[in-house]
Amino acid sequence: KSHYTVVIVGGGTGGITTAARLLRESRDLYNEIAIIDPSEKHYYQPLWTLVGGGEVEAEVTKRDEASVIPDGANWIQDAVVAFLPEENRVVMASGGELSYDYLVVAPGIQLDWGKVKGLKENLGKNGVSSNYSYESAPSTWENIRNFKGGTAIFTAPNTPIKCGGAPQKIMYLAEDYFRKAGVRDASKVVFGSGGTIIFGVQKYAKTLTRIVQERDIETKFYHNLVEIDGENKQAIFEHLQSGERVSMKYDMIHVVPPMSAPDFIKQSPLSAENGWVDVDKYTLQHTRYKNVFGIGDATSLPTSKTGAAIRKQAPVLVKNLFAVMRNHPLPGQYNGYTSCPLITGYGRLVLAEFDYNNNPAETFPFDQAKERYSMYLLKKDMLPVMYWDGMLKGVM
Ligand code: FAD
Repeated sequence: KSHYTVVIVGGGTGGITTAARLLRESRDLYNEIAIIDPSEKHYYQPLWTLVGGGEVEAEVTKRDEASVIPDGANWIQDAVVAFLPEENRVVMASGGELSYDYLVVAPGIQLDWGKVKGLKENLGKNGVSSNYSYESAPSTWENIRNFKGGTAIFTAPNTPIKCGGAPQKIMYLAEDYFRKAGVRDASKVVFGSGGTIIFGVQKYAKTLTRIVQERDIETKFYHNLVEIDGENKQAIFEHLQSGERVSMKYDMIHVVPPMSAPDFIKQSPLSAENGWVDVDKYTLQHTRYKNVFGIGDATSLPTSKTGAAIRKQAPVLVKNLFAVMRNHPLPGQYNGYTSCPLITGYGRLVLAEFDYNNNPAETFPFDQAKERYSMYLLKKDMLPVMYWDGMLKGVM
């Protein structure tokens, strides 16, 4: 079959959720949806923070891609390399092509490991780890568990990233663990960030600023990691205001790599000037191609890139896609909702939820800026179940 009513690029959080919702709402789409994704596996990435913190085994975050493809959708195990939106076609790495009536673009964000010199070579050794891949997240726990004092650095790049809070969540877990292990007095904990502030939403930033002070964490903003010298355990930052190179000795370092839109999106006619899939921020419809929609991390939506955001984007996209099919005006409006479960220690969590205007958009009837055990359990035990059994089935 070389033509589908709907072709979805990417079978991650956004792609699978969209497919499941479309099929739930229209029997006509049965066998009329193709999901193109080269990956053998589907990952629940939000738990990688707790893999790095030693709370969860990596294996529980991974399932076969085949097992998450909804009934009625066809999985094409291939990678899209080019878009021909004028001709309603996509080209794949195998050389094959698919044509479509409607296209949904959801290939996620690209991790630019190569942009930090020495990072790839040292990942998983010389005290260097990252929760941002399935393979390297367990090494974070190894480093935390074996830390005997010294300097522990946690970095954040100066690019957009997925889950803006993740660079600091693992820092709070590590700091907490160092206290319990009796090595905190002999250690320095540093947040080396290419950002300029601790968090973009005032309400939660207040809590985090207090936590950082109380727990004696040194924050270094405008510090963008550019190089790791693994042999000498030196992290080299570029100071974004002075342009100076600043070298810091570390004993363990958790690195969040720079990220950007996937290269094949940047090079395509679908991209905005900044590389992301160019969609309307309210309707998720492509700004130039009306039969094309985008969802998730690869899009130009000016909100924090999370799975929680996709949970609110998917119903809007599906509603609007059906409207385009019927030649109706688009009824769905996404307000930028996103959520960041900020783990602040073992058994403690601040559940940040906010919209395009950085106004809190909270779910619970209590002050979510307070650290809570209940919210930690929500993150660790409940959200994964809601993900696999709810969101990916198109019911949440
Ligand atoms: P993904 O789920 O990443 O899926 C993209 C898919 O596209 C992949 O399957 C990939 O194989 C496929 N693909 C790539 N290139 C191609 C191609 N050329 N052709 C076809 N397919 C392609 N979110 C939260 O909501 N809460 C959290 O607490 C949270 N914590 C996080 C912690 C960490 C450490 C990380 C890494 C992420 C976290 N996230 C969190 C973010 C969340 O995982 C992502 O925002 C979400 O998975 C994005 O979904 P997506 O569909 O856009 O991309």
